[in-house]
Amino acid sequence: MTTALFSSPACLAHATPPGHPESPDRLRAVLRALETEPFQYLMRVEAEPALPEALARAHTRELVEAILGPWSVRARQEVYFPIDADTVMSAGTADAARIAAGAVMGAVDLVAAGTARNAFCAVRPPGHHAERARAMGFCFFNNVAVGALYARAVHGFQRVAVLDFDVHHGNGTQDIAAEDPDFFYASTHQWPLYPGSGRADEQGCAGNIVNVPLSPGSDGVALRQAFSEKIFPALRAFAPDFVFLSSGFDGHRADPIAELCFSEMDFAWVTRETCVLADALCAGRVVSALEGGYDLAALAHSAAAHVEALMGRP
Ligand SMILES: [Zn+2]
Repeated sequence: MTTALFSSPACLAHATPPGHPESPDRLRAVLRALETEPFQYLMRVEAEPALPEALARAHTRELVEAILGPWSVRARQEVYFPIDADTVMSAGTADAARIAAGAVMGAVDLVAAGTARNAFCAVRPPGHHAERARAMGFCFFNNVAVGALYARAVHGFQRVAVLDFDVHHGNGTQDIAAEDPDFFYASTHQWPLYPGSGRADEQGCAGNIVNVPLSPGSDGVALRQAFSEKIFPALRAFAPDFVFLSSGFDGHRADPIAELCFSEMDFAWVTRETCVLADALCAGRVVSALEGGYDLAALAHSAAAHVEALMGRP
C-alpha cells in the first residue's frame, strides 16, 4: 500500500511579511524535494478546506468565526493583519489555514479506508501552537487536532494520539488534549524555549500528556532515548486507534531559530519506529503534518527523509 501526499497551492498563498521565517518558500522547498525520483509513486492528493464545523471540534466558535470572518476582512484591507507579534494574517491566510486542517482530515479518510497506508500533509500555516481559543506562534487552526477529532467523530476511532518532535512544545495540541483521557499527546522539545510550556510534570488528566524537554545542544541520541524510553512505552500503554505526527524539522542542527542538533537521519528514525509501533497497535494508521523547520535545505532534506520512512524505506 502506498503513502499519500496531501498539499495545495492555496497553502502558498498565506503570505507573511518580508523576513518572516514562516514563508511560502518553506513549502516550496519541501514540495520540490518530494518531486524527485524516490517519490514518484506517492499518491498525490489536493487537499480540500475544512468546514467551520470540523474546525470547531478543536476550537471555540469564537476563534473559528474571527479567523474566517472579521480578521480575514482586516487582512484583505490592510495586506498584513497581525494577531500577535509573530502571527500575521494576509488575504490568503484563512483559506490556507482551512486547507491545512482539511488536508489532515482528507488523509484520515484515505488511511481509514485503507486506500493509503499512511500520509504526509505538506501544508502551512502550521498548527501545533493553536490552542482551543487562541491562534499564536505562526499557527491559526490546530491541523493535527482537527484531524484527530475528525477521526474520532466521523470514523469512530476512539483513542487518538499525537507525537510531536518539533523543536517547540505544542502548547496548542496539549491544551486541546489535556482534559480528554482518550487523546494522547507526547512531545520532545527544547526547553527553555518558546512558548514556555511543556514541563515534564504537565501530564494531563489521565497521564495522557508526556513531555520530554531537552536542553539546548541535545542531539539525536537524546531524541532517540526520549522516544525509546518514555514516549513509545507510554504510547503502547495508551493503545491508540490512530497516530498523528506533528512533524516539525526545526530541531535540525542547521535550523536558525533553536539549538537542538538533530539530523535528517534522526527524524527518519522517529518516523520508522512510529510506523513499526503503529503497525502493532493500530493497523499502521499514521498521518503526519508539517509543523516548523526554517532552514530551507535542512527542511527539504528532513521532510524527504521523513516521507521515505513513511514509505517504508530503510
Ligand atoms: Zn517549531
